[in-house]
Amino acid sequence: WLEENSNNTYAVSRSLPQISLLGRNRPRAALISLVRNSELEGMMQSMRQLEFRWNRKYQYPWIFFNDEPFTEEFKTSTRNLTSAKCYYEVVPREHWSLPEWIDEGRFMNSLEYLGTIGVGKGWMVSYHHMCRWNSGFFYKHPFLKNYDWYWRVEPDVHYFCDIDYDVFRFMRDNNMKYGFNMNILDDARSFPSLWTRTMAFATAHSHLIHPEADLGWLLEPTNGNEYNNCQFFSNFEIGSLNFWRGEGNEAYFNWLDKAGGFYYERFGDAPVHTLSVAMFAPKSEIWFFRDIGYQHDINHHCPPHREGKCSCQPTSMDENFYKLVPLESPQRKPADTC
Ligand code: GDP
Ligand code: MN
Repeated sequence: WLEENSNNTYAVSRSLPQISLLGRNRPRAALISLVRNSELEGMMQSMRQLEFRWNRKYQYPWIFFNDEPFTEEFKTSTRNLTSAKCYYEVVPREHWSLPEWIDEGRFMNSLEYLGTIGVGKGWMVSYHHMCRWNSGFFYKHPFLKNYDWYWRVEPDVHYFCDIDYDVFRFMRDNNMKYGFNMNILDDARSFPSLWTRTMAFATAHSHLIHPEADLGWLLEPTNGNEYNNCQFFSNFEIGSLNFWRGEGNEAYFNWLDKAGGFYYERFGDAPVHTLSVAMFAPKSEIWFFRDIGYQHDINHHCPPHREGKCSCQPTSMDENFYKLVPLESPQRKPADTC
């Protein structure tokens, strides 16, 4: 019973039955999560908070992905936490295995090397498959064929604030391609060749680069030819599936994949998504969801000035962001958050 009124704001009309939530104007969107059976507890924690803060009002379906079938326990326990529909999908084998052009021996050597130097989870075979799936395959899963928008959710994360509008309608109505919430500087030793390969791609495919693309915020201030390693923290994403399905991103993903960087190095989906968004979307179509309080492990974001809406305490860093760029300004340079 959410309706758009003539001022293009969203009003609640109590007289209409709930079923109109599923009306023809509703974005085709889902909450998606790649998760293991063993992470059930963590998944339940993330779900409880996101349902309470947002989805109980909007009833978007949950779609869970796994490289093996979900257990009955996983399905029952997650279904019990929402009145929205839940779907459980297995990732196709060919989206989660070594492609034939990868030299297995060389991959094993790099696992050992990444383990020795201590690049986070770089010694796990599954972590490489996971990063590659999140970079180039999730949006190709057959079950997502009829969907346009997704919100990525991980187990064991926190959502601190009430969200009182439909974020998917917001994305669609404002023609946004990608929404983020935090930026980080990841371990650059996990992707030593990523920047040079990306620059080579951009040179060879200049026709695919968006005319309003801006890579300036990704450059090292002292040496403008180097990547500053700033990246969207991709465990939180609200985005357009069709953006990833576009020609630019597909060509870019295949370019990286053929070079073997998901296995010989540990290309993460965070830097890959960041570079792709920077090349194929104008900055005006990238949105900072500064109003959504969020935590993943030690990284967290607590929006100030949302009195009574959040169960977190803004830090001085949170406060400083908001002094730097006031809440009312429509857009904010992603680099400001790194
Ligand atoms: P980190 O955030 O980079 O430390 O990586 P995580 O270990 O949190 O993994 C990222 C996401 O992928 C999480 O949602 C995990 O549940 C999921 N994931 C990672 N590895 C696997 C795997 O082997 N199988 C499945 N089904 N999910 C995985
Ligand atoms: Mn994680």
